[in-house]
Amino acid sequence: MPVYNPPLRDMQFVMHEVLNVAAEYKQMPAHAETDEDTINAILEEGGKFAAEVTFPLNVSGDAEGCKLNRETHEVTTPKGFKEAYAKYVEGGWPALSCDPQYGGQGLPIVVNQAFYEMLNSANQAWTMYPGLTHGAYEALHAHGTPEQKKTYLPKLTSGEWTGTMCLTEPHCGTDLGLLRTKAEPQADGTYRITGQKIFISAGEHDFVPNIIHLVLARLPDAPQGSKGISLFIVPKFLVNADGSVGARNGIHCGGLEHKMGIHGNATCQMVLDNAVGTMVGEPNKGLQAMFVMMNAARIGVGNQSLGLTEVAYQNALAYAKDRIQMRSLSGPKAKDKPADPIIVHPDVRKMILTAKAYAEGGRALSMFCSLLIDRELHHPDEKVRKEAEEMVALLTPIVKAFITDNGHIATNACMQVFGGHGFIKEWGMEQFVRDNRINMIYEGTNTVQSLDLLGRKVLGNNGATLKKFGKLVAQLVEEEGVNEKMSEFITPVAMLGEQITKFTTELGFKGYQNADEVGAAAVDYLRVLGHLVFGYFWARMAQVALRQIAAGNSDPFYQAKLQTARFYFARLFPETATLMRTARAGAKSLLDTEAALA
Ligand SMILES: Cc1cc2nc3c(=O)[nH]c(=O)nc-3n(C[C@H](O)[C@H](O)[C@H](O)COP(=O)(O)OP(=O)(O)OC[C@H]3O[C@@H](n4cnc5c(N)ncnc54)[C@H](O)[C@@H]3O)c2cc1C
Repeated sequence: MPVYNPPLRDMQFVMHEVLNVAAEYKQMPAHAETDEDTINAILEEGGKFAAEVTFPLNVSGDAEGCKLNRETHEVTTPKGFKEAYAKYVEGGWPALSCDPQYGGQGLPIVVNQAFYEMLNSANQAWTMYPGLTHGAYEALHAHGTPEQKKTYLPKLTSGEWTGTMCLTEPHCGTDLGLLRTKAEPQADGTYRITGQKIFISAGEHDFVPNIIHLVLARLPDAPQGSKGISLFIVPKFLVNADGSVGARNGIHCGGLEHKMGIHGNATCQMVLDNAVGTMVGEPNKGLQAMFVMMNAARIGVGNQSLGLTEVAYQNALAYAKDRIQMRSLSGPKAKDKPADPIIVHPDVRKMILTAKAYAEGGRALSMFCSLLIDRELHHPDEKVRKEAEEMVALLTPIVKAFITDNGHIATNACMQVFGGHGFIKEWGMEQFVRDNRINMIYEGTNTVQSLDLLGRKVLGNNGATLKKFGKLVAQLVEEEGVNEKMSEFITPVAMLGEQITKFTTELGFKGYQNADEVGAAAVDYLRVLGHLVFGYFWARMAQVALRQIAAGNSDPFYQAKLQTARFYFARLFPETATLMRTARAGAKSLLDTEAALA
């Protein structure tokens, strides 16, 4: 059976030593009281919840899955899931970073994100139920009418009700402009909604008395395509004027998908049959409102893979120290044993360190992104808020796609450390691989993320936000440029920064002549930019570690950080050279292939 220890020390390192979040919160009136001790205490309790309540249900939830009663359309989740959710609500966890106006605790997003990383390590399938609820909360908080906020936000904040996002239909996934679900306006101001949605996570379950679906649908006179989509709240049970749960609404689960992983999460086909809904935001501007939820969910999906990378790493490391097989090439290391532990073999170390470097780099990026969101929401200076918003927009596709692709590499590598045992269910490693696989697909596939990054976020604003990230790199180079000890970390990042400037201009020029050139380069481009961002954070983490060591701190944590940084720059970062080369190969080798693909 797998093990999981919440990585509190590393979280504290990133939050307090690299990002100095508490000092920054002092400038934000909403968070001025949030100090290091408060954050640490919450995360310690949160870690206990993840390790003791939801982690023990991960393997059993995978084996058992969800069940649909075809007569009542009710879904039963795996044994223990519902009770774990009740404990989650009882502990006040859903309210952590919600608005105090609606019963929330008003804590920073960084705290919530770190807590969710641990929940994802422990049990991604379970975590998706509250995760989607939080996304629905955010969309309604940003775009709901005062009445809608009053009705729904306190219940979503407390976790008494949960939420979903209903976008996908059988014929439309990536291209939401194709969606057909219809919304007919009624005399009383509500809408009657009819259509079919598929793949709806947490669409039906037994945790709570009401489920609040956020549904994309089309008004009768709506323009074609994505400019004709509106957003609606469609509760499973209608809500009475006094806020109590009323009659059953015309939305039900018509089937459950049988899938590769996250078996404990109900992936539902949802049938809407004249369901009553109310509009969120303006007519035909539903995608804009839904983007609040989608952007939050994209960062959340990166966080899912971060969690799985961490738990896979922990298990691979423990196994590699215990499993003895063959002797080290340079002579026996465990002379008292008939063979050496496999951790002596260079390639086994490479697999484990890959996962460690991707987990710790991903944690730094995710926390930075969450801090930017805190700035965006609460910084008193409007210019700072605006800049934070732009930077989050640039980094979101990287968090989503780079961290989930790395999760794929890392969970597979960690499974490989177990040899044949990794393929056997009882060790739990193959579940991490299976559960992670969806993260590269949903919330916009990783290809779609890369098109968003290169097409919209970089070329779409002439590289303006990318230049702002470049300034952060330049600042670090200026600070540490003459420090010889830092040059092994700073030089590759500075060089890549310069190469990316040229590479981006080149792609912009080619894309201007032929848009397919952007599509042909985008996936490689995202990975290159991902390494620039990870490289920047690895250099900053090495900087802190070096300073601590120079000051006489003998905590082995800092040596570990430096060694992992060295591994990252020696073994993972250099793939940027190949990626730039393949991106430069252009669209011709992909498109001039009619005979090959006939
Ligand atoms: C387990 C699970 C849970 C899900 N949960 C939800 C949920 O809660 N709510 C919800 O609404 N949806 C959900 N989804 C749906 C998910 O978001 C979609 O599956 C995903 O967005 C892709 O859409 P699709 O499956 O229709 O693939 P398609 O859009 O058909 O894409 C097929 C392939 O074509 C590629 N492609 C498409 N367009 C382009 C392009 N322009 N350029 C390059 N490549 C392109 C894609 O990257 C992909 O590889 C879930 C799906 C699964 C499997």
